[in-house]
Amino acid sequence: MLSWALLGHAGAAGFGIETRLLGRPLTAAQQATVRDAAARVSALITSPFVPVRVDIAANDCDRGLPRVQGTLKKLLVFVVVKRLKDDVYATGMPCDLRDGSYLPVYGVIDLNSDGLSDLPREDLLDTMIHELLHVLGVGTLWEADYRVSVSGDTDGRTLVRRVGGALYYTGPRALAAYRTLGGQGPGVPLDPDAGHWSGRAVCAEILSGDAGDFTGRVNPVSVLTLGALEDLGYRVNRAGAGRFSLPKGSSCAAQLKGEASGDRARTPPVVPPGGFASCAAARAAGATLPIRRGQPGYRTQLDGDRDGLACESG
Ligand SMILES: [Zn+2]
Repeated sequence: MLSWALLGHAGAAGFGIETRLLGRPLTAAQQATVRDAAARVSALITSPFVPVRVDIAANDCDRGLPRVQGTLKKLLVFVVVKRLKDDVYATGMPCDLRDGSYLPVYGVIDLNSDGLSDLPREDLLDTMIHELLHVLGVGTLWEADYRVSVSGDTDGRTLVRRVGGALYYTGPRALAAYRTLGGQGPGVPLDPDAGHWSGRAVCAEILSGDAGDFTGRVNPVSVLTLGALEDLGYRVNRAGAGRFSLPKGSSCAAQLKGEASGDRARTPPVVPPGGFASCAAARAAGATLPIRRGQPGYRTQLDGDRDGLACESG
């Protein structure tokens, strides 16, 4: 009753993430987006995924997951596409944690099948990167209660501190990054769920509580989130940090406006007369793929299945 597809093989030399799809089928383009997200997240991590032997019973972490036996050489992430509550796009969490390092062995992402077909590629990519970070432990392994290994050990470490009525992240690496960005106070402000940067204080960042308010782009994975990965025990590629600045004053809109004038601002692709010769040409020109019917550069010749989306796969 469940469809099963082996999807991603990302980051062969470094940290690998393997995504396996379950549940309702995704289109080829959506599958490519899931793979892309896994590749982007694994490229942020330079420490290897240490192979681990597992024998995980079916339904062990989430209903509907199959039994897994053998040696995992990459972080295994089940992506279960199913109906979730209306206002939830997706959820992500680690399952078993290793003894000693408390790093995840595998995890699961539930992706809401409702409205998925209307979700633009950038927003699905943003969602998947966000949830994969949760699977790695960012925002999900910050409190001692959750830092329990397969053997039942815990290091008792908590990275969240309550000051007055507010929650702050106090892991040293992310906190240092926050300071270099000009942030002040006892820690990085968190949302009340203790699992996301405060939407108001941090605004558009991949792990901000406001990440669900799509900005029509992939929110940056900033030095804050890379620092949070380091605090968990991963080594990271700091050069991979996305351009990010804390909002000045209290306006998230002003932050977005400021960044849009920077060098990562999206410039429209130059479409040659008569459209792109090929999907490779469209990609090289920086066109956002797939190209929808009615958008500049769309040609039926590039839309093999005539569904109004040109250059869907790849
Ligand atoms: Zn989240």
